[in-house]
Amino acid sequence: MVHMNKESNIVKMLRKKKKRSGIIFQDITDKIKTEEQFENSEEFYKNLYEHIPDSIVTINLKGYITSCNTAASSIFKYSKNDLLGKHFSKIGIIRVKDIPKYLRVFAAILRGKGTNLYEITVNDRDGISHIVESHISLIKKNNKISGVLAITRDITDRKKSKEELIESQKRYRLIAENTNDLIIITDTDKTFRYVSPSIKSLGYNPDELIGKDSFSLLHPKDKKSITFMLKQLIIGLYKPGMNSCFEYRLRDKSGIYHSFEATTKLVKDESGKHVILSISRDITEQKKAKEMLQYEKDFAESIIKTAQAIVLVLDTQGCIVNFNPYMEEISGYALTEMQGKDWFTTFLPKCDRKHIRNLFQKALNNIQTRGNMNSIVTKNGHKREIEWYDKTLKDAQGNVVGVLAIGQDSTERKLMEKELRQSEEKYRNLIQNTKDSIVIIDLKGCVKFANKASEQMTGYTLSEGVGMNVKKITPFNYWPKSYKALQKAKKGEDIPYFESEIKRKDGKILQVETGGQPILKDGKIVGVQIITRDITERKNSEEKIKKQNTQLKKLDNIKTNFLNTTSHELRTPVASIKGYIQMLLKQTLGEITIEQKKALEVILRNTNRLDNLIENILDISRLESGTMKFIPEKTDITKMIKEIIETMQIMADLKKIKIDVDIQKEIPDLIIDQERIKQVLINIVDNALKFSANNSIINIYATVNKNNVLFEVQDFGRGIPIKKQKKIFEKFYQVDAGTDRKFGGVGLGLTISKEIIDFYGGQIWVDSTINKGSSFKFSLPLQTTKDIEDDLQKIYVA
Ligand code: ADP
Repeated sequence: MVHMNKESNIVKMLRKKKKRSGIIFQDITDKIKTEEQFENSEEFYKNLYEHIPDSIVTINLKGYITSCNTAASSIFKYSKNDLLGKHFSKIGIIRVKDIPKYLRVFAAILRGKGTNLYEITVNDRDGISHIVESHISLIKKNNKISGVLAITRDITDRKKSKEELIESQKRYRLIAENTNDLIIITDTDKTFRYVSPSIKSLGYNPDELIGKDSFSLLHPKDKKSITFMLKQLIIGLYKPGMNSCFEYRLRDKSGIYHSFEATTKLVKDESGKHVILSISRDITEQKKAKEMLQYEKDFAESIIKTAQAIVLVLDTQGCIVNFNPYMEEISGYALTEMQGKDWFTTFLPKCDRKHIRNLFQKALNNIQTRGNMNSIVTKNGHKREIEWYDKTLKDAQGNVVGVLAIGQDSTERKLMEKELRQSEEKYRNLIQNTKDSIVIIDLKGCVKFANKASEQMTGYTLSEGVGMNVKKITPFNYWPKSYKALQKAKKGEDIPYFESEIKRKDGKILQVETGGQPILKDGKIVGVQIITRDITERKNSEEKIKKQNTQLKKLDNIKTNFLNTTSHELRTPVASIKGYIQMLLKQTLGEITIEQKKALEVILRNTNRLDNLIENILDISRLESGTMKFIPEKTDITKMIKEIIETMQIMADLKKIKIDVDIQKEIPDLIIDQERIKQVLINIVDNALKFSANNSIINIYATVNKNNVLFEVQDFGRGIPIKKQKKIFEKFYQVDAGTDRKFGGVGLGLTISKEIIDFYGGQIWVDSTINKGSSFKFSLPLQTTKDIEDDLQKIYVA
């Protein structure tokens, strides 16, 4: 009964408690819903008390258990009898070591100082430990504490699983903390919630990032795509539980971006809030390697595309898999029309097919051919000579999948080689057949090569000559010259031709002319090529001509001396003849008949000619011997020309020829021997009158330029043939000796003129066209006359 009473008290308390305790309230609510009536009965609470899974125990003020429910005996494995009336500390539930502590706790509870909830480790009857949670409250009767109510729940399992959870969390955290992968948890508003320590590789500390906007580290170009991905993730477009994989770039502390590959998942945190978990891997290096690979691939592709070489891929059957644009260019075929076709029958001339197929088979068996030359036939039927280099093609597993062939179009090279061979042959023939000796010597002078002509020139056979030193065929007195020439070649300079001698095998000496060039090999001088010509004959004829010239000179001298002396000797008798004739004509010595007068006039004319001739010969000899006297004086050119015209006017009038004069005003006075220059001009004007027709015109011009005064006498007479225009300045030369002599000249006037103009450093020449006329021109340098003037000035001062 006591128990019953006590139980009913407990039930009452439970009833009061039901609004406070969630667990009890729920359990009771269920019952309330279904058994409303029963609920209010005493029976209901008793039932509840007995069937509740929590142990309910009451303890009196002295610590003795006064009541307990079924759960109490089943949790602790003691029967109700074992428990009722026993002191709570002595049953064996409280571990011996904890007894003093709980006695103190019990006393404190009774004093109203204890807490409400205790987590205690207790033992059951079998000695197995349980973690229990005890809710302690005081039992009061008539406002006086009469005992303690302990509602105890076995929380061993809950505790265990919580511990396990903590353990597993610890484990995961450990993994997260130690992995190289970057684990990031962000809130859905993108703030960092958790960053694993691997972020340190970017120079950050996880702590400094927590709470910050994760997008602040993101590459600006990635923000849009990541935002989109997160939105998709959040609105659930990614199937639940499915990872979304993506790439992004994070900025490290120094500002450099690193590429990451991440998987992201929307997960719930402990509080059930959605967070974004991403596990990222730094793929910067991987990316770099990938980019490098791509670059290499692009590079290789562009080489293949632009290479001026054929790149051809055949499969194991010899069918065309691929070829590059260069092959398209050379062959005229497009790759698309040739892919899959048999290489050998499509491109090779029949005669080559078998041989090339063999080489192809070899290539498939890893035996590569290098530099094989064969032709391919192009679309327009032409043949191109190709030099091939092939290589076995294998797949990643090492299986042979075909042959790669690189071809160089050598058609032009072959042609050039042929031309070179031909030209080499031509030059070899030339070298061998030339009459000049061609010898190649090394830097010590030893013969390395000699042509046939060398044999004839030196008398030594080729086998004797090659290896011999050139000293042996060089006479001793020519050694210094030859040594100097060799030194020149050693310095890389050409040896200019010089005269030398060769001592033949038979001892004869040959006059030769020798020259040469250094021979280079790989930029170094290794020898000298010497070309030698036998000039003995030329020397002999030169000698002959020299002798003849001396002879002629002697004769010329004799002639000049003769003319000179005779002229001198003739001068006096001619002068006296002229004097007497003139006296006779003036009839000072008596009257003469008309016939006698005529005869005397003829004699006088011829004596004048003779006198003229003598004067000319004397002038020439004076000019040639340099004994002609030039007396310089300041000369007014206009005045001088006027005087000349006055002299010539009678002759001009006879032929009714008009003489026009045009003298440039600016012409300065010249310091010249007026009489000599007059002599030149008179001779030219005299010729112009002689060789012009009656009633024609003669123009005289005088102009000045920077350096010269130019005189010109222009006639419109018979002209002079081009070939003879230079010759008329030679001694005694006349264009038409027969006719011209009749005019009274002897062909010395222009020679004298030239000598005079030469003396002044000027030039004299003629421009003439046959039957149209001639222009005789001569120049006098201004400078010379200026110098003379200066000299004169000095003399005057002195
Ligand atoms: P010559 O005393 O014979 O005139 P030159 O030396 O003065 O000797 O002239 C040589 C020759 O040049 C003349 O004989 C004449 O054949 C030719 N010759 C000179 N001047 C003229 C000219 N103005 N027209 C044609 N022939 C000329």
